[in-house]
Amino acid sequence: MKRVTLSFDNGPDPIVTPAVLDILAEHGVLTTFFVVGEKLRASPAAAAAVERAAEAGHWIGNHTDTHAIPLGLIEPPDAARAEIIRCQFSLGTVAHPDKLFRPFGGGGKLGPHLLNAEARALLVRGGYTCVLWNAIPRDWDDPDGWPARAQAQCRETDWALVVLHDIPGACVGRLDEFIAWLKAEDFEIRQDFPDDCIAYRGGQPAAGEIALGNPA
Ligand SMILES: [Zn+2]
Repeated sequence: MKRVTLSFDNGPDPIVTPAVLDILAEHGVLTTFFVVGEKLRASPAAAAAVERAAEAGHWIGNHTDTHAIPLGLIEPPDAARAEIIRCQFSLGTVAHPDKLFRPFGGGGKLGPHLLNAEARALLVRGGYTCVLWNAIPRDWDDPDGWPARAQAQCRETDWALVVLHDIPGACVGRLDEFIAWLKAEDFEIRQDFPDDCIAYRGGQPAAGEIALGNPA
């Protein structure tokens, strides 16, 4: 049976995140939300949406504090550390105990632009688990057409880790339909991650590290 893991990046959004949570609850699907620190702090409603996600059993991870410059390209290089630490601090007790962290950059391309040496050293020292991906259906620039790409990507691999976005103008309008399709096609929808999408596990380099290329 093919496996699929869903993840939601770039939130929380005070309207969209609760709508995504409603759909996931209807389907009984648990996922991971990779949260941007400054969006979490932007309003009580945004923070409440993340708390609700954690209470429902979703995992909460760190997706940097401002999601501005990819951490392999940021200047000065040491700013990468603050991007990770500030978000983790803002997550507080809702953070998954494994300190899940997902970098970003370049429309989802994997490579050395995602993390610089300072960021990698912090992930190691801090015991973070760095979660990459292998399916990017580009919901953010094709909110109506993304399910067809997501379906193709899920069929192509034994275990797809799909990146979607709980932000306005992205996946939410067709999420219900996509999950219904996964169920109809007998995919096993899991919350954990395929090994080859983990670059660091508890601070130790792991199989996915190769996708990050050589340290910048
Ligand atoms: Zn992102």
